[in-house]
Amino acid sequence: MPTAVQANKIVVLSGSGLSAESGLPTFRDSNGLWNQYAWHEVASPEGWRARPEAVLAFYNERRHKAWHAQPNAAHAAIAALEAAYEVIVITQNVDALHERAGSTQVIHLHGELAYARSTAAQPKRYRIDDAPIALGQLADDGTQLRPDIVWFGEQTQYMDEARAHVADAAKVLVVGTSLSVHPAASLVWAAHATAEKVLVSLEMDSVPDGFDFQRGKATERVPALTQAWLAQAAATSP
Ligand code: NAD
Repeated sequence: MPTAVQANKIVVLSGSGLSAESGLPTFRDSNGLWNQYAWHEVASPEGWRARPEAVLAFYNERRHKAWHAQPNAAHAAIAALEAAYEVIVITQNVDALHERAGSTQVIHLHGELAYARSTAAQPKRYRIDDAPIALGQLADDGTQLRPDIVWFGEQTQYMDEARAHVADAAKVLVVGTSLSVHPAASLVWAAHATAEKVLVSLEMDSVPDGFDFQRGKATERVPALTQAWLAQAAATSP
């Protein structure tokens, strides 16, 4: 049976471009992380097995930077939508800037820097905020702690839940992602044919069908859009 959209529901799909104006580098832009590091050395199970201390150092530095970054106007605008809408944020970002801006329903597809986990078959997860992880630092189950980050080749988290949210949202905002990392990128295909679909990014190689591409900075485009959506909700509320 086709899914019916929920008129009051907004899904935001975000990527690293949303946090770029908070000072956190993206992945693929010219000053992005993957131009400074070889991804297979720092973000893969093979890299972890070969040089765990280098992987820990990479994520310890990213955790420290993310912890000291501040949410920007686009994170704040997304959080403010909760005044009039049910808002589900589905993010590829591993920082906590959505939550720190006030968003209350955030799904992290690729994990979170502020958590560590054990390396046992049934991993235990620990909140560490900005604390570094050291080689030799063990979890309660006796295994080495690692960042709670989904590396290349590992399974993206919460995909079924995320897809169900996208499918019945009346509005879908995609912001700051190149849509090149799968399966996260495939979530855009789940959007309902009748949903209002907007994509905000500095650049986009290929805009998914049905999306209105608004080229520009997240801190400029997103607040303008969310103000229009809040005005729309105010005009239609009884
Ligand atoms: P990406 O680097 O592939 O794409 C970033 C996109 O954002 C590009 O399309 C770019 O044009 C756009 N962009 C850059 N600055 C922008 C701005 N100011 N306003 C609007 N758009 C802007 O990043 P991605 O698609 O998120 O790649 C996915 C991977 O990146 C994920 O695995 C994610 O975990 C990881 N990542 C996360 C963070 C973070 O948590 N802050 C940082 C770097 C990478």
